[in-house]
Amino acid sequence: MSKADSVTLAFIGAGNMAGSIIGGLVQTGWPAEQIIAAEPSNTKLDVLAETLGIRTTNNNEDAVAAADIVVLAVKPQIMKSVVEPLAASFQEHKPLIVSVAAGIPENSLNQWAGGNMAIVRCMPNTPSLVQLGASGLYANALVSDEQKSVTEQIMDAVGISKWVESEAGIDDVIALAGSAPAYFFLMMEAMIEAGEKMGVSKEAASELVIQTALGAATMAKESDVDVAELKRRVMSPGGTTEQAIFSFEDSGIRTMVDKAMNACRNRAEEMA
Ligand code: NAP
Repeated sequence: MSKADSVTLAFIGAGNMAGSIIGGLVQTGWPAEQIIAAEPSNTKLDVLAETLGIRTTNNNEDAVAAADIVVLAVKPQIMKSVVEPLAASFQEHKPLIVSVAAGIPENSLNQWAGGNMAIVRCMPNTPSLVQLGASGLYANALVSDEQKSVTEQIMDAVGISKWVESEAGIDDVIALAGSAPAYFFLMMEAMIEAGEKMGVSKEAASELVIQTALGAATMAKESDVDVAELKRRVMSPGGTTEQAIFSFEDSGIRTMVDKAMNACRNRAEEMA
């Protein structure tokens, strides 16, 4: 199963997340004829078939029967009602199950699918929708190394992915990446508001702040040095940046971030 061109993938649910992953896979050369998307209505399926050339069906069971890997991409609240009727098919065909649903533990999925299933839990984040996602992956004991490798190929089509050793590690990923786009949006929102108070128009402040965030993230990604060093390089002694950074540090930004991420992680743990 290590080669993408010998693996058939089925997506149960063809909404935002599935559409993004499928788009990324086709763009990166995954054979479209080896991708099947399944959901009850044709609206999104027809668009995927027309634009990407993949196979589609309204029958989830047919999709499971044809697949080596089944990606579960329906909303968490309907997951049980979608998976339980497929248990016989899962037991007969034994595909790898990859769930992208937030908050559904592996043991629930395994039980609903009839038991003894190889399952990967994946925690993607919203930038996956623009192929800049950061996903955490957790595999149960039945997942083979080859299946892990193909799962990485799938999630890397919409960004990067990192394996975690235990399912609890998924909660760390939620704090570090799953919920984290909102932390950066908050920072940008606060900066735009501060710019407006200085008299800059909202439009100009937004453009400047968003471009700066993109530039900083791109530099951080491409640089050989860590983010602390990149920050230091912008801070000329006695200069303007230094004043801003000293002010952030005086206001306790590190404690605030630590506290916020732990609150996030604790909530993920409570909800699991
Ligand atoms: P979505 O756009 O609503 O997609 C879910 C799809 O499932 C919809 O197209 C829905 O069709 C379809 N569906 C409904 N009932 C079905 C059934 N019985 N069988 C097969 N398909 C069915 O949701 P999403 O944002 O892609 O989220 C999907 C999963 O990804 C969720 O579990 C979520 O937790 C996870 N996730 C998403 C993001 C994100 O950025 N979007 C991030 C992290 C995790 P209808 O619309 O016709 O009902």
